[in-house]
Amino acid sequence: MGHGRVGIESILSKMGRMVYDSSDARATALAQLKEQEGGDPFRILIGTILSQRTRDENTTKAVANLFARYSSAKELAGADEGEVRDLIRPAGFYNVKAKSIIRVSRQILEKFNGRVPDKVDDLLKLHSVGRKTANCVLVYGYGIPAIPVDTHVHRISNRLGLVETRRPEETEEELTKKVPRRYWLELNDVFVRFGQTTCKPLGPRCEVCTLRGVCKYYREVVSPKRGKLDKPKLGGVSRANIRGG
Ligand code: SF4
Repeated sequence: MGHGRVGIESILSKMGRMVYDSSDARATALAQLKEQEGGDPFRILIGTILSQRTRDENTTKAVANLFARYSSAKELAGADEGEVRDLIRPAGFYNVKAKSIIRVSRQILEKFNGRVPDKVDDLLKLHSVGRKTANCVLVYGYGIPAIPVDTHVHRISNRLGLVETRRPEETEEELTKKVPRRYWLELNDVFVRFGQTTCKPLGPRCEVCTLRGVCKYYREVVSPKRGKLDKPKLGGVSRANIRGG
């Protein structure tokens, strides 16, 4: 069953209420960077590269270390690779990431006059920049509507039944067709926080989720299992009785 436009609006607003009202609401690394750096596209780009395959808190540390020492594409283009490696160590995969960061900085300097491009096609020309990173730069760096699809956005969209896709690129294509453009800027942030706190990769917390009624995964996977667990055994006591109801 597909979700219509109204369905998506209500899903986003329920999800937003769950993440922004929850006591453990934390800013994602990119949202934090956006706030701290006033959305400097270069820092968002480097932050997104650093955030690959690591936790948010590690990204935040690595970005802070790096930008305390090098603050622009020009400076990083001529940086010492060994030093960069040490500065970004908290983010993991620091050998590859140090090389990528320096190479990207050089490309920005040489091909784009030191300014991070604000078009997807140009961003995709940069070393190690894929669609997710390019879209993150647009959303968090330039405030241009786009849908960055990371592992959280991909998983949750499929669980909810908003899309039925195998690859993040297909998810992006489907979501851009189904979600009204006015919601694109907020979508990544809300989905990522929701994925970190409630709809986790392993063990989604469906019992506290207000989207159960519209969620395909809940309907098809979680609920049937629960049904079996909740059925009182013959001669057994129901849960209400156990709780003294
Ligand atoms: S009901 Fe469960 S699987 Fe569905 S969105 Fe909520 S937490 Fe995720």
